[in-house]
Amino acid sequence: MNILLTGGTGYIGSHTAVVLSQLGHKVVLFDNLSNSEETVLERLAQITKQQFPFFNGDVRDTDLLKNTLADNSIDAVIHFAGLKAVGESVAKPVDYYANNVQGTVSLLQAMQAQHIKTLVFSSSATVYGQPQYLPLDESHPTCATNPYGRSKLHIEEILNDVAISDPQWRITCLRYFNPVGAHESGLIGENPSGIPNNLMPYIAQVATRQRTELSIFGNDYPTPDGTGVRDYIHVMDLAEGHAAALNFLTQNLGWHAINIGTGKGYSVLEIARAFESVSGIKLPTIIAPRRAGDVAECYANPVKAKELLKWAARRSLNDMCASTWRFQQSAEKRENSWTHE
Ligand code: NAD
Ligand code: UDP
Repeated sequence: MNILLTGGTGYIGSHTAVVLSQLGHKVVLFDNLSNSEETVLERLAQITKQQFPFFNGDVRDTDLLKNTLADNSIDAVIHFAGLKAVGESVAKPVDYYANNVQGTVSLLQAMQAQHIKTLVFSSSATVYGQPQYLPLDESHPTCATNPYGRSKLHIEEILNDVAISDPQWRITCLRYFNPVGAHESGLIGENPSGIPNNLMPYIAQVATRQRTELSIFGNDYPTPDGTGVRDYIHVMDLAEGHAAALNFLTQNLGWHAINIGTGKGYSVLEIARAFESVSGIKLPTIIAPRRAGDVAECYANPVKAKELLKWAARRSLNDMCASTWRFQQSAEKRENSWTHE
């Protein structure tokens, strides 16, 4: 298949590009580089021994998308492009609706114009809001608690309307839990600009002494050790989940929402200890107040993915920490060599 990845130079998009190309698909990347760098292309070439066609553009540029779809004979699209920081979305809701919702509408217009009707969308477990029961299955009620989550929910609903309007569409919304880790080469991974919002990249920066200590946001939650519990999923498992979703869509019409998680939750302390054990580095920690909006526990029921996609996560917490650590060390080496040039 010829597959367009919007947001293809980003964290999850780049790992998915590796998996899809290794399965023999032709992969085309489209990104405005607002949260990624063009150097990812060189590293993708190092890993896969092939050069991916890349288009530097904004998904709100419908004409550019139309041409990209037509010129590359695209059969299916995976739509990663979007903004993803919850806190920033509260401060800049218009940017979030413009990038995420308007961007998706523009993509749908371009796809409709080119009669391309197969789409995998990057949704999030955030669409479940405060869990009413655990593990979260796909029939759990949805609810948005911030503009980022609302943009994901709006997009899911828009995609459902599209599938109802025309039964030829094949759409899967993958509701990711907590993606972490990196490709085993250490060449691509998550490289947030500024202070990381998420636990694993923050820990990785404490380990390389870019940050002095890890603040544990609350140790009085009703969880076994008092710290927050999440369903961390290795980004390579997640990438393989996209390949499985595309495969599923070749056989199935309509709109589908599917969780992509492991089904197992780990606490902040468990993650910190696992990282210490793979890196051999003791992480300085302090207990800080709870972070506003955080829930105590969140983990997936992954049964639907197993049944429909024939996919399940297979990499361990150890793999997640070891690959994060490898990527962090090589990113640091690259940065040091640039500063010394
Ligand atoms: P990322 O920021 O690394 O990748 C997103 C890419 O989209 C970036 O390369 C960015 O430059 C690009 N982009 C943003 N707006 C664009 C626009 N208007 N036009 C073209 N390109 C644009 O993020 P990621 O972690 O790879 O996330 C990919 C998708 O998965 C996002 O939609 C995100 O909301 C979703 N998601 C991520 C997580 C997570 O924890 N990483 C969890 C759930 C869902
Ligand atoms: N967390 C933490 N310190 C940090 C970042 C995160 O204690 O510096 C905790 C956070 O409170 C949550 C867990 O780690 O319990 C995962 O947070 P993350 O932001 O990675 O994911 P999300 O909360 O969005 O699921």
